Amino acid sequence: MRFLLSFLTLLALSIIARTQVNLKPSPLAGYEQRIHEYIDTLRIVDTHEHLTSPGLLKKSYFLDFMLLLYNYNYNDLVSAGLPDSLFNPLFNQPLSPKQKWILIEPYWKLSFNTASNRVALIAAQDLYGIYDLNAMTVDELSSKIRKAYSNDWVNHVLRDLCRIDFVIQDGNDPEINEEYIKHAVRFSPWLTVRTKFTIDSLAIKQPDPIFTLDDFVKSMTIAFETALKDGMVAVKVNTAYNRTLSFDNVQADAARKIFRTLVNGSDNFSMSYQAAKPLQDFMFHRLMDLAGKHKIPVVIHTGLLAGAGNQINNSNPTLLTNIFREYKDVNFALFHGSYPFGGELSTLAKTFRNVYIDMNWTYAISPSYSERYLYEWLEAVPAGKIMAFGGDYTNVENIYGEVVIARKIISNVLINKVKDGYLTELEAKNVARLILRDNAIRFYNLQ
Ligand SMILES: [Zn+2]
Repeated sequence: MRFLLSFLTLLALSIIARTQVNLKPSPLAGYEQRIHEYIDTLRIVDTHEHLTSPGLLKKSYFLDFMLLLYNYNYNDLVSAGLPDSLFNPLFNQPLSPKQKWILIEPYWKLSFNTASNRVALIAAQDLYGIYDLNAMTVDELSSKIRKAYSNDWVNHVLRDLCRIDFVIQDGNDPEINEEYIKHAVRFSPWLTVRTKFTIDSLAIKQPDPIFTLDDFVKSMTIAFETALKDGMVAVKVNTAYNRTLSFDNVQADAARKIFRTLVNGSDNFSMSYQAAKPLQDFMFHRLMDLAGKHKIPVVIHTGLLAGAGNQINNSNPTLLTNIFREYKDVNFALFHGSYPFGGELSTLAKTFRNVYIDMNWTYAISPSYSERYLYEWLEAVPAGKIMAFGGDYTNVENIYGEVVIARKIISNVLINKVKDGYLTELEAKNVARLILRDNAIRFYNLQ
């Protein structure tokens, strides 16, 4: 009997041991709904916007349905053939909504499918109750938009409808001064310098003249320290629109020589980008020194460049590899999911302790790219290094449209990860909280 008991005990133990090794935890029924609700109601951080102040919008000629088609939507209309000559009539002239619709309709019919335009349609539906853009709806939509802006619309949409606790705004606009809106600052004039005019324009803004390279570095240092005092939470690097993201570590002598040629030139003197590159590279490295010294993170535009005819080769994130290696104390966020370089981005974030993924704008470029790479990044990269939402828009309507898509994609990915037994329900919720909120609060040191 004793033998039988110990045999049964051993058998029971071996079954328990086997189940612990072999069985994935099966989620409790209803996990899909619970994860969905958790993500839908989570208060989040929006890591990147270009908000236009309501005051400026009210003075503009596009506080009508074209407000929703500004930026990326306009770019898609251009991509579908809309001529550049229509920009002014659409945005800078007092045309009626119907007159504007006649101008864009042929191109809308060719580009209504893009994610950017879906974002605008979600906004029109949910915020204004308008279910399509056409000749019959643009008047009503336009008058509803104008009416909305007579109230505290911007804060209502961001805080109550998007459920955003902090926004990181690109640039410090004194008219956008809500406590929850923090700002990143660009130092582009120093990073893209190739004309004497740029140097003179910077010198006018400060008490000291700029005669030497040291003066030039000092002027950037003063601008940096002033921005810090004014509440800058990150440095924004946007130079891929002008030049490659490859920044060599140039010796001061080589930079000095180029600076001298520039500063001694005639008033309208400019040099080619190739000739100025070593000076620009030198200044970028000095900016990284400042970021390291003051422990300010650096966020960099990588991947797709908005607008027609830009060079995608300039913005491949792997061009920055030497920078990540050299400035180990600086944290970098690579913007826009580096579309279409998602695999390269994954590798960089996995390899370097100081490289973070930021998915702002990515959902409005392609929801399926966002979904595909979020799956991959959640396998390859620590969840603590992914920031999963920023709108990258100038108006709150399209931020709303994009956040609707983002929450849906993130829910899909995490629900499937639980279904596959890759994550438990609790882990999935923890991931959502990290990527939509906690990581950004830590990265930008928000409080
Ligand atoms: Zn942006």
